[in-house]
Amino acid sequence: MAVTVLIVEDEEKIGRFLELELLHEGYEVLKAVNGREGLEKAQSGRADLVVLDVMLPELNGFEVLRRLRKNSDIPVIMLTARDEVMDKVAGLDGGADDYMTKPFAIEELLARIRLVLKKRGGVGMAGADGRDKNQLKVGKLCMDVQRYEVSYDGKQVVLTHREFELLKVLLENKNIVISRDTLLEKVCGYDYMGETNIIDVYVRYLRSKLDDVYQVKIIQTVRGVGYCIKDES
Ligand code: CA
Repeated sequence: MAVTVLIVEDEEKIGRFLELELLHEGYEVLKAVNGREGLEKAQSGRADLVVLDVMLPELNGFEVLRRLRKNSDIPVIMLTARDEVMDKVAGLDGGADDYMTKPFAIEELLARIRLVLKKRGGVGMAGADGRDKNQLKVGKLCMDVQRYEVSYDGKQVVLTHREFELLKVLLENKNIVISRDTLLEKVCGYDYMGETNIIDVYVRYLRSKLDDVYQVKIIQTVRGVGYCIKDES
């Protein structure tokens, strides 16, 4: 049975983006655009997890969480604005399961949703379509998405968050060429405003940690298009 995620977010663009990504991952989606509606839907019993923005009209996210926790232990992931450390602390103290700082990479939010659901009782682990998304492999390269670990030939490879996310997108789309733009959106978030060659930089970092160390050629460059990881590489 599909896992239902309630998105409480007043910013239409972000709400829509989250909805599409979650639907793509096989989740059912409910939406609310203010705190009051969010609280009602969170209490309705129709959702399995709540993605709750902090800055909301009518009731803010912390107030929604506070009221919700009086009679519900539904998993909640808070969305806070950048660098609002106090928000994070208040969110976790208030009974949130996790938090994400905006702007965030959607892959990270999806990973955290899976992790929270796993901690809370093992639902939604393989995605609603039944594929095991926790282990990604090509050749001797293995990524454990749940544990956030990467190994090559059994030896652990330590990656930064964005290196991990980049590698994950390529592994999830094995044998498919992914454009720099798509990688940028998936790794850095849909509203990333920084350098566009950042993906090339992360690919270089990954190669220095994998290809150079193990004398292999894992990530293929497709000139003028983007990057690809092939099965036989
Ligand atoms: Ca908001």
